[in-house]
Amino acid sequence: MNQRVDEHFLAQVRRRPDELAVVSGPTTMTYRQLADRATALAGGLAGLGVRRETLVGMAFDRSPDAVVAMLAIVLAGGAYVPVSPAFPERRIAELLDDSGVRLVLADPAGRVRIAAAAPGGVRVLGLADVPRKAGPVPPPAPPGRSPLAYVMYTSGSTGRPKGVLVEHAGIVRLVRDPDYAEFSTVDRFAQLSALEFDASTLEIWGALLNGARLCIVDNETAVVPWRLAEAVRTHGITVAWLTSALFNQLADEDPGMFAPLRCLLTGGDVLSPRHVELVRARHPGLALYNGYGPTENTTFTTVHRIDRRYDGPIPIGRPIRGTTVLVLDGERRPVSRGAVGELYAGGAGVARGYLGNDALTSERFVHIGGERYYRTGDRVHVDPDGVLHFHGRTDGQVKVRGHRIEIGEVTAALRAVPGVTDCHVRADHDGLVAYLVAPGATEQAVRTALAATLPHYTLPDRYVRLARLPLNRNGKVDAAALPLPDRTGAAQHTAAQHTAAQHTLAELWGDVLGVDPATIGPHDRFLEIGGNSITLGALLGRVHHRYGAELSFADAVAAPT
Ligand code: ADP
Repeated sequence: MNQRVDEHFLAQVRRRPDELAVVSGPTTMTYRQLADRATALAGGLAGLGVRRETLVGMAFDRSPDAVVAMLAIVLAGGAYVPVSPAFPERRIAELLDDSGVRLVLADPAGRVRIAAAAPGGVRVLGLADVPRKAGPVPPPAPPGRSPLAYVMYTSGSTGRPKGVLVEHAGIVRLVRDPDYAEFSTVDRFAQLSALEFDASTLEIWGALLNGARLCIVDNETAVVPWRLAEAVRTHGITVAWLTSALFNQLADEDPGMFAPLRCLLTGGDVLSPRHVELVRARHPGLALYNGYGPTENTTFTTVHRIDRRYDGPIPIGRPIRGTTVLVLDGERRPVSRGAVGELYAGGAGVARGYLGNDALTSERFVHIGGERYYRTGDRVHVDPDGVLHFHGRTDGQVKVRGHRIEIGEVTAALRAVPGVTDCHVRADHDGLVAYLVAPGATEQAVRTALAATLPHYTLPDRYVRLARLPLNRNGKVDAAALPLPDRTGAAQHTAAQHTAAQHTLAELWGDVLGVDPATIGPHDRFLEIGGNSITLGALLGRVHHRYGAELSFADAVAAPT
C-alpha cells in the first residue's frame, strides 16, 4: 500500500471533492476547498524555504485553520511540530530551541504567545501572512525511508521534553484499512484532542485519509459533559477517541450521550471496568475498544475490542496490522509463555527516534533480529489467545488524567525553585502530590514558579510540606512513611457557616472532587484543592443540572472560589 499521507489525502480529494472534510461550528470545508487552501499555502511555504523534512512549528487551538496548516506543511514536504499556545513561555522557548524550528505558523492567539517566547530568528506567521508566491514542489522522498510527518514532544525524565520523530508510514498504518476497526467515508470523527497529543493523529488523519468528516470540538465543549453530548448529537459523530479519564467522567455524568457513536476508542491509560460496563450496558451495539500505545509507536500498538463483561483488568489486545511485538526480560530474552516482561514494539509505526538525542534514541530504539523495536517501558503478559495484558511501568513514567508525565521532570522543575531544598513527587489516583522541604518558599511561591516552567497538566495537584523527607534504611525516600495529603488545607467548615447556596455548591464540589463537603469553605479555590480541567467540566455539568445555568470555563476561571 502507498505509505504517503499526502498522497492518500489527495486521492480522497479526487474521489469526493464536494463532500465535507471539516466542520467546526458554522464553518465548513469540502475536500476540494481544504485541498485548495492547503495547496496554496504549501506553495507559499515552499517559497519560504520549506523543503523535504523541514520542521515547521504550529501553534494553534483546534480549528479548521490548524488542519489547513498541518496539511500544507505535509504537502510542502515538511514535518509539523505542534507547540501549544497554552504552554508557559519558558516551555515554548525550550521546544523551539530544541527543535531548531525557524518558522512557526500560528493562530492570532498563538502568534502573540510564540512571538513573546520565541528566540531571535524564529519567524511567526499567521496563515494570511504567508506570501502566496509558490516555491518548488517537494522532491520525492529518499528511497527506502518513509518521510518524516511530525515531531511530537513528550515528557522527559531528565527534565527536558523529548521530540518523537514520526514518519508517514506510521500514520498510514494507524488509519488506513486497519484491522482493529473499520473507518469509512460515512464516518464523522470527533476532534477532541489538542494537536500536541498524538490522539489527534488518529482523529485528524483517521478522517482525512478515509474520506470521512472531521468534526472539531472546541476546548470548553470537550470537557463539559452536557455540551459534548450536544456536540456529539448535532454533528452526528460516529467515531471518537477518548482518554480513559475523560471517558470515565462522561460515563458517570451521562452514559446515554454515546448513542450516536458507532465506534468508541478509549485508552491511553488503564481502563476502569465499572465505567466500561456502564457504557456497554447502555449501548450494546456500540463497538468499544481499549487502545494502547506510546507516542513512539504512532498512537496505537495494540487494540482490544471489548465485547464482554470484565470484572478485573481489561486486556490491551493484539498488535494492530503492521505492528509486531516482543515480550522480553531484562537480558532481552523472550520470557517464558505467559510470564510478565517488557513490551517491545516493532513495525511501520516505530518512530525514527528522538530529535537531536542520539544517546536516548539508541537506548530506547534497539535492533533485534534485524528489526527495529521501541522499548516501551510497559510490563505486559500474553495470554494463551495471544492477547496482551498490561501490568504497569518499569520506570517513573505515570499517566495523570490521560497525560504522560515523567515524575523526574516534575521533580527537576521543583528542585530548581529557589527555597526548595528537597522534594519527592508521586502520583495517586487523584493526580500528583508534591512533598516539599522548602523552608525558604511559600507554597504559593512554589506554585507560581512551577506554573512558569511546566505545562499546566504536569503541575502537582496537592502539596505537603515536611521538615524533611522520611528515608528508609537504604537512604531512599520511604514512600510508605509519607503522610497522606490534606485534601483542602482549610479548616473544617461547619454547615451552619454556609448559606443555603454555599451549602449546595459545597456538595456539588465535594461530589466531583470526591471529598467531604464539610471540608470545603467559601474561600477555597476549586483548582487549588484538587480540581482540574476535567473535574471543572463535570462541576459545570452539575451546576447546569441543578440550576439550569450554562456557565463557561471563562466564568469559572474568573470566579475561582
Ligand atoms: P498515548 O497518547 O497514545 O496514550 P503516550 O505516549 O502519551 O501515548 O503514553 C503512552 C503510555 O501510556 C504507555 O506507554 C502506557 O504506559 C500508557 N498507556 C497507553 N494506553 C494504555 C492503555 N490502554 N492501558 C494502559 N496503559 C496505557
